Amino acid sequence: MTIDEKPIRFKIEPPVEIRERRLGSITTWSGLAGDLVERSRAGALREGSRSFEQVAACASGCATLNLVTIDDAVVVNHAPMGCAGVAARYNRCRRIGRTKRGLAPDNLPLVSTDVRERDTILGATGKLVETIRAAVAERKPAAVFVTTSCASGIIGEDIEGAIAEAEAELGIPVVQVDCAGFKSRIWANGFDAAYDALLRRIVKPATARDPNRVNVVCFSGSLGPLEELLSPLGLVPEPITQFKTIAEIERLSEAAATVGVCPTLSSWLADGLEQRFGVPRVQAPSPYGLRATDAWLRGLGAVTKRSDRAEDFIAAEHAAIKPELDELRTKLAGKRVFVSAGSAQGHNFIAALNDLGIRLAGGCSSHHDPSLDHLAPEADSLANAIHERPDVPYGVCNKQAYQLMNMIHRLKPDLAIMRHPGLVFWPAKLGIPTAYFEDEHFGLGYRGLIRLGRAILDRLDNPALERSLARRAHLPFTDWWLEREATHFLEF
Ligand code: SF4
Repeated sequence: MTIDEKPIRFKIEPPVEIRERRLGSITTWSGLAGDLVERSRAGALREGSRSFEQVAACASGCATLNLVTIDDAVVVNHAPMGCAGVAARYNRCRRIGRTKRGLAPDNLPLVSTDVRERDTILGATGKLVETIRAAVAERKPAAVFVTTSCASGIIGEDIEGAIAEAEAELGIPVVQVDCAGFKSRIWANGFDAAYDALLRRIVKPATARDPNRVNVVCFSGSLGPLEELLSPLGLVPEPITQFKTIAEIERLSEAAATVGVCPTLSSWLADGLEQRFGVPRVQAPSPYGLRATDAWLRGLGAVTKRSDRAEDFIAAEHAAIKPELDELRTKLAGKRVFVSAGSAQGHNFIAALNDLGIRLAGGCSSHHDPSLDHLAPEADSLANAIHERPDVPYGVCNKQAYQLMNMIHRLKPDLAIMRHPGLVFWPAKLGIPTAYFEDEHFGLGYRGLIRLGRAILDRLDNPALERSLARRAHLPFTDWWLEREATHFLEF
C-alpha cells in the first residue's frame, strides 16, 4: 500500500468527549436484548438513576491501567493516594499480561502525586511538576502520562501549563490524560481518554506503510490466538498498545490496517488511526463465533487485498473444526448460560455460545453504547449476537452485584460466565458453576470457539466447588431483595 494522502497532525484540540455525550451510552437498563437493540437504533435510550448503588467504577483508573502497561512510559496519577488503591491489581494485570506475552514480569511504572486536603486549597501543580521530575530521574522513561482525578479536576488548576513547563525542561513528551472520575459512570471512558492521549501526542505520521502489519487493538491476552487468525493470510499481528514501547506506538500509523477484538476497547483508537493517519479500520463484529469470525476475516482480507486467502482459510477452518464442534454441540445442547461482561466483550461471548448450541439464559453488561464511533451498523456486536434470540432477558448495570445476583437468582442458569474477576464469586455462592477466562483472547476465532466449548463443558462437569461454596456461604442479600424485580431501585 502506498501513502496517498498526508495524514492530519494534531493541533491543539479538546480531549475526547465522554461516551454519554458522544454516543448516548447508558449504565441502566432492564428488559429484552432485542428491545435494547431496537431502542439503540431508534436513538430512544435514556439513562436512568439508581436510588441504591453498591459500587462505582472509575474512568481514571481505567485510563491509568491502560497506560501503565506501556513498556517504557511512566504514569503520574495526579490524585489523592486513595485513587491508587487499586495499584496492586494493576500490577497483577501488568505482570500476568507480560507473562502471557512471553515477557519477563516487572512492576508497574505508576507514581501518585498524593494530593492532600491542603493541596486542594493551596494548589498542587508544584507537587505535580516535582513528582514528574522525580519519576523521570528515577525511571528515565520515553514519555510521561499524567492521569487526572476528581480532586485535580475539581480544584481546576492549570495542569496543562504545568505539564508544558515540565515537558520543555525534560525533553520528552509529558501528556495530560483527561479522565477525572466524576465526569462519568462509565469506566470505558478511560480507554478513550488513554487512546486519545496517544493519538494526539505520541503517534506520528507514517513515512512508509508495511503491507503485512496489522494493528490489533486488544487487551493483554496471549499472542497465539491472534497469530492463528492472521498468519494464514500472511499478516503479522501488532497487538496494541499494551507492552509496546513509545517508539513502537509512534509507528502505529505505518500498519496496513487496524482491527479490534472488542469494539468497546478499540473504537476510539481504530477510528483515530483511520481518520487522522489514514490506516483503514476493518468494519466487522469481533471474531467470536463462526459468523462474526467469517465477517472479520473477510473485512480484513478486503482491506489488505487478500480476499482469496481469507476465503480459503475460512473454508479450511470450518471443515477442520466441524467434527469437534458437532460433538460439543451435542453435549452442550439445551444448556443455559448467563453472561456478565463490560459491554461488547459480553456480546462476543454470546455470539460464540450460539455456535456451541448453548441457549443464552440472560446477560448483563456494565454499560451499553447504542453505537460506536463511525462503526458501521453491520458491526453492531449486540445485534449480531442476539439475532436468533432477541427475546432474551438483558440488563445493563455498572457492576452492581445486587442487580446481577437478582437476575442470576431468577434465571437459574446452568453456568455463569463472568468477565470481571471481582464478580466471579457471586453466582458461585448461589451454587451455579461459574467460568472466568483470564486470557481475553482464549475464545477468539475458530479454534477459540472449540477451546471455549471444551472449557464450558469442563466447568459444567465439575460443579463441586460451587456446590460446596453455596452450602457454606452467607449471602448479604435477603429474600426480600431476591424476590423483587431487578428494576426495583431504578428510575427512568
Ligand atoms: S478519580 Fe475520583 S472516582 Fe476515581 S478513584 Fe479517584 S476519587 Fe474515586
